Amino acid sequence: MLCREHGEKMARSSLLKTALFGWWGVISFFTNFGAISANRNALRAYQRLAEPNGEMQLRGPSAAQVQHQSAMWKFLGLLVMLLVLLIVVGVAVTMLTS
Ligand SMILES: [Zn+2]
Repeated sequence: MLCREHGEKMARSSLLKTALFGWWGVISFFTNFGAISANRNALRAYQRLAEPNGEMQLRGPSAAQVQHQSAMWKFLGLLVMLLVLLIVVGVAVTMLTS
C-alpha cells in the first residue's frame, strides 16, 4: 500500500498512459475493418478479372477504383486518428491540470 501522495501520482500516470495508448487498440480495430473491406473488394475484383473471358473483364472494377476505395479508408482512418488525438489531448490536459 502506497501513501496518499505516491499512490495518487501512480494512479494518475497509469490513467494517463491508458488514455494515451489504450486508444490505439480501438483505432486499429476500426482501421482494420476498413483494410479488411478494401482487401476483400480487391480480392473479388481480381477474382472477376481472373476469368479468361473478355466480357467478364469489362464487368470487374478497375484497379483505379479499388485503389480509390483503399485511399478512402486510409483517409477515414486518418480522420478517426485526428479525432481521437484531440480527445486524448483534451483528457491529458484535464488530468494534468486537475
Ligand atoms: Zn510515498
